[in-house]
Amino acid sequence: ESVSMVKRASMLDQHKKSSCARVRVAVRLRPYMEEKEEDKVPTACVRGLDSHSLEIVNWRNQLETMQYQFDAFYGDSASQREIYMGSVCHILPHLLIGQNASVFAYGPTGAGKTHTMLGNPDQPGVIPRAVRELLQMTRMAASAPENENWTYTITMSYVEIYQEKVMDLLEPKNKDLPIREDKDHNILIPGVTLKTINSFGDFDEHFIPASQNRTVASTKLNDRSSRSHAVLLIKVQKSQQVAPFRQLIGKLYLIDLAGSEDNRRTGNQGIRLKESGAINSSLFTLSKVVDALNQGLPRIPYRDSKLTRLLQDSLGGSAHSVMITNIAPEQTYYFDTLTALNFAAKSKQIINKPFSRETTQTVAAQPAMKRPREEAEATTSS
Ligand code: ADP
Ligand code: MG
Repeated sequence: ESVSMVKRASMLDQHKKSSCARVRVAVRLRPYMEEKEEDKVPTACVRGLDSHSLEIVNWRNQLETMQYQFDAFYGDSASQREIYMGSVCHILPHLLIGQNASVFAYGPTGAGKTHTMLGNPDQPGVIPRAVRELLQMTRMAASAPENENWTYTITMSYVEIYQEKVMDLLEPKNKDLPIREDKDHNILIPGVTLKTINSFGDFDEHFIPASQNRTVASTKLNDRSSRSHAVLLIKVQKSQQVAPFRQLIGKLYLIDLAGSEDNRRTGNQGIRLKESGAINSSLFTLSKVVDALNQGLPRIPYRDSKLTRLLQDSLGGSAHSVMITNIAPEQTYYFDTLTALNFAAKSKQIINKPFSRETTQTVAAQPAMKRPREEAEATTSS
């Protein structure tokens, strides 16, 4: 009996380890955006089913629908607060005890990555919410009696990874920064700018001009922002003010990834094709890393790209990681949506029924030949 107890305990331990190394994957469907032509019928090809799954048209067979399952699914009416409360806020307490975490937004350009991470003043996204809450949490913790001899410091760095080069958005003259690993296996960027933030105002003061650095570059280079990774690092340091002067450092990466669209299909050429090649290989490595972590494989290919190398100590292992995959419902995104879903899904199922398109009409349809019951059904399926 005691043997089985030990066995169970070690299995639990194993489970704890693997569930920690796992990357949680959430999917967020953005609302349908109206076409220019007024009378165009919406052609949404994706629909949410519940808080874990969605269904999508099977383009190979119109008589079938595909259903996908995720750790979490957020439908097109989900608020910024819901995303934050459901998938992000629970990882923040770990940062105060010296653990690392990462949150990244994945998906094709136009599907809502920046909206999810940054949002706007009326609908703030993950970044402003997490920064505000971390500031508040450290303030609270600092005033707790058991932390009498400890102080908390929050610092930020903000870099862009573009064509496998790390650039400092807080100091644009730092254009190709190295990534190093110290003897304790911490990953760092020597020479990157670090700013201390004591208030949300401090954060804004550094973050807003840095984001403009990114936007300026992007208009010059034809929307480079969709082909680079924006990596915000928030570091929480807890320092003991008396001997032995212990220090705990927790790192949080908040990342707006490059667009996952296949540029060979959308017909980008010349330098843009070369750029997208580099980006695709970096995103491809990220997908291999996430897959390897979630399948519990022994070798994780962190070193195969700058992005994953930088994330090595904050993605998998004892770190807490969440990937929010953003998708769009319009037909034009269909193949990019499928690619994103196949990467994000825990499971996929083919259902033997046609995808039902809900249509909205300004005037009630008049199917004269149908009986009332069929008429009602005709509005929800076609
Ligand atoms: P990406 O960063 O993936 O290219 P964006 O975040 O820029 O995509 O989103 C494209 C457009 O869709 C923007 O105008 C954005 O405001 C809007 N949008 C995205 N997600 C939502 C949402 N959940 N609700 C309302 N508008 C959204
Ligand atoms: Mg964007």
